[in-house]
Amino acid sequence: VRAIGILGGGQLGRMLSVAASRLGLRCHIYEPGAAPAGDVAWRVTTAPYEDTDALRAFADSVDVITYEFENVPTAALDLLESIRPIRPNRRALAVSQDRLTEKTFLNGIGLATAPFADVPTQADLDAAVAAIGRPAILKTRRMGYDGKGQVRISDGPAEWTGAPSVLEGFVDFSAEISVIVARGADGQVAAFDPGLNVHCDGILRTTTVPCGLPAKIVTDAVLIAGRIANALEYVGVLGVELFVTPAGLIVNEIAPRVHNSGHWTQGGCAVDQFEQHIRAVAGLPLGDGRRYADVVMENLIGDDLDRVPDLLKTPNVQVHLYGKGAPRPGRKMGHVNRIAR
Ligand code: ATP
Ligand code: MG
Ligand code: MG
Repeated sequence: VRAIGILGGGQLGRMLSVAASRLGLRCHIYEPGAAPAGDVAWRVTTAPYEDTDALRAFADSVDVITYEFENVPTAALDLLESIRPIRPNRRALAVSQDRLTEKTFLNGIGLATAPFADVPTQADLDAAVAAIGRPAILKTRRMGYDGKGQVRISDGPAEWTGAPSVLEGFVDFSAEISVIVARGADGQVAAFDPGLNVHCDGILRTTTVPCGLPAKIVTDAVLIAGRIANALEYVGVLGVELFVTPAGLIVNEIAPRVHNSGHWTQGGCAVDQFEQHIRAVAGLPLGDGRRYADVVMENLIGDDLDRVPDLLKTPNVQVHLYGKGAPRPGRKMGHVNRIAR
């Protein structure tokens, strides 16, 4: 493999491109909108996913195709896959594009999720609220991220939003953790240490490693992530978000790509999640993902960008900026890793 195609030109595609370039590989990014990763990739195509000529030229120019964004239309994927392999595979993508399919898959391999119900209509929502109880969370099946497309149902009336959705029971968790796991083309599995995640307004704020939880929970979390990767015959890096409860771990959701809660690996490991993903999809051996430092990753969101001049002067702080345009509230502009021995 010499050239890797990446669907999606956000910050994840940008950091994948940087990792690939360190290994002497070239990345071609395909992005329907503006591509902040454009300045670091070997080539960039800016065209809609409906442009079959652009898709064909993109696929022809690379050896393997991966993605940093899971909501690519099926027709585009079909065309791309007729030309080059897509890693992680289509099943992993299909399962994780849709919260209903995802939770059904997870339960099917013996993993616990929040109680959930498909709610295609208002009547189904009423029945689901009665069955699952309050509080509950109504989530769109597709396209949600950073807490978008979610409505908390507490005391008031439960109003269906019109979009195909699932209703989820509220999980009274003591902590949120995630595991970033990699699976190679040869089936080898390697997990990074689980990180403790703190969210604010539905957006990831910080990830801390080590997570400080008992060894049994940490081991369970890693085994769950490995089970998911194996069940999907996954190749690449996968993010698994978990709730810690007195009754054990509950899988919140999975992301078939490098994950924001894995950015700490840039400061904590010899081989970070981006390089690990590139290695896996390029058919190279997985690298050493052991944690050599304690790290707190903090996202720089919106006006947090004003703190960059000070952060650049702070010892032990690794600053990552995504080269996006104007900061907007809730927009991820960069992150920092505070590294301690
Ligand atoms: P992203 O993909 O950016 O992580 P998302 O929009 O897919 O976010 P979720 O991960 O489903 O959203 O939810 C965002 C946050 O909301 C969770 O990390 C958790 O803090 C809270 N949350 C979600 N579902 C539940 C639940 N069933 N019970 C309790 N809290 C929940
Ligand atoms: Mg999500
Ligand atoms: Mg999430």
